[in-house]
Amino acid sequence: MKNIAKDVYQISLFPRNAINCYVIEDILIDAGIRSSSGTILKALKDKNITKHALTHAHADHQGSSKIICETLNIPLLCSEPEKEFSENGNVVTEYPNSNHIISKFQKQFWAGKGHLVSETLKEGDQIGGFTVIETPGHSSGHLSFFREKDGVLIVGDVLTNMNLLTTKVGLNEPPHLFTADKETNRKSIVKLASLKPKILCFGHGPVLCNNGELEKFVQKSGLFY
Ligand SMILES: [Zn+2]
Repeated sequence: MKNIAKDVYQISLFPRNAINCYVIEDILIDAGIRSSSGTILKALKDKNITKHALTHAHADHQGSSKIICETLNIPLLCSEPEKEFSENGNVVTEYPNSNHIISKFQKQFWAGKGHLVSETLKEGDQIGGFTVIETPGHSSGHLSFFREKDGVLIVGDVLTNMNLLTTKVGLNEPPHLFTADKETNRKSIVKLASLKPKILCFGHGPVLCNNGELEKFVQKSGLFY
């Protein structure tokens, strides 16, 4: 578990930071794929974790949610639109092509079973020292989490910091195949950039200390704010 900022830790679940989850204060954000639970629970062994929240209910984020909530006896939180998928485990429902071979693979081998959601989160809610930011597009109820005092942003999959095919590091929009509404997601990218985040923590790719990379990406992609 890597310390990113005060009370913020990254748990990298795949080589090259290809899939990550995070601890913010006493909250676990996301939970990798179904086979990630051992790694996550081991990393959390000396931590007092009281809640588990999801950026969104895709297979590479909710995979170990059920087993972790049950093992640690902690509640699961997500947005209202993600509640249904978090609870029923139907994680590819919103994909543009849920019958694509990769969608089927994720459903069969990565997705965890659903788990009861105890509480839903919405724009402006506080979770620990972080503010909930609604960032729909990649999924309809996608959430990001921002701590204003030091600019730490849990991005989720609004942006990736890795090309998911080549694993080359760099900012990218999330793959079309797994993104429900690309244009809405682009608005969410602009929304996050307008927060002027300093440390960006992604679902996929290494953490980025932002020295203008985000602003450059937004301009290069023809997005404005
Ligand atoms: Zn993801």
